[in-house]
Amino acid sequence: MNYIFGPVPSRRLGLSLGIDPTAVSGPFNDDRRADSKVCNWNCAYCQLGRTRCFTTARASYYPPEAMLEELRETLATDSARNIDWITFVGSGEPTLSSDLGTMIRGVKSMTDIPVAVLTNGSLFSDIRVREDLMSADAVLPTLDAGTEELYRRINRPHPNYNFERIIRGMIAFRARYSGKLWIECMLIAGVNDDEASLHDIAAAMKRVAPDEIHLVLPDRPPAEPWVKPADEDGILRARTILGGVARTVYPAEVEFERGAIQDPLEAAAAIIARHPMSNEELARSLSLWGVSDTETAIRMFAESGRGISVERHGKTFWRAP
Ligand code: SF4
Repeated sequence: MNYIFGPVPSRRLGLSLGIDPTAVSGPFNDDRRADSKVCNWNCAYCQLGRTRCFTTARASYYPPEAMLEELRETLATDSARNIDWITFVGSGEPTLSSDLGTMIRGVKSMTDIPVAVLTNGSLFSDIRVREDLMSADAVLPTLDAGTEELYRRINRPHPNYNFERIIRGMIAFRARYSGKLWIECMLIAGVNDDEASLHDIAAAMKRVAPDEIHLVLPDRPPAEPWVKPADEDGILRARTILGGVARTVYPAEVEFERGAIQDPLEAAAAIIARHPMSNEELARSLSLWGVSDTETAIRMFAESGRGISVERHGKTFWRAP
């Protein structure tokens, strides 16, 4: 599988089958194979590491029919019965694919499973991007800051972007979009979890008027070591202050389920390329393919060379080499 991965347990969407619209592993991207992601931001908390392929231009990364064919095969397997969402997410910013609208409409014509798009929201000022997203059932943009200064510190965007333009883009999208608009806010200790920063974020959120605000923590290895998850106090503060704007959700973890890929190591490698996993998550994932003891599961994966381990808060995580 080049473009489809999972299903992956998502904190916000239950069991989610992933589609990577900017996949760099496809046969049409040989020259980009070395890059782990394609993005117009370089978030300090990014679980895919620092942005090396920094771009603002939308492009076609592979023919949409190739992905739709993979999806058709996946949906024909037993594992498709349990999928809650089909989610556009992956190795970078999905709206950088100029085929996103075609892909979403193609998926909608193939299945009744709802479609979500995880995006940083930076391109909503482009009417073509807003149109592309209209057929999705849920759109989940990011808003981690309420000021230009904090936006630059956390999301470290391409110099072409500015905070006000992004908020205006989100407002324009909200004005026409009838699906679910759930904004994600990453809470970083000592950076955006203090009262003043949260009030700034609440003011920006109020202008956009999302249906829900999803609080998330940088609990996977971030691009920068100074990024730490907010503690209980910070989460409570955020729930209180942002709760005045919209229903504020702090999602719990969900369990892994076996996907369509038959080889356990291949399945795990496809997931960690987009979503790094802890030792426990990796073992739980591999157990779905019959690998029952944790030690064996981890050893098998380490020996396969399909992932590298990194330490974070006393925990071991696996990410793509
Ligand atoms: S977190 Fe998302 S938006 Fe930020 S750098 Fe990583 S891929 Fe890009």
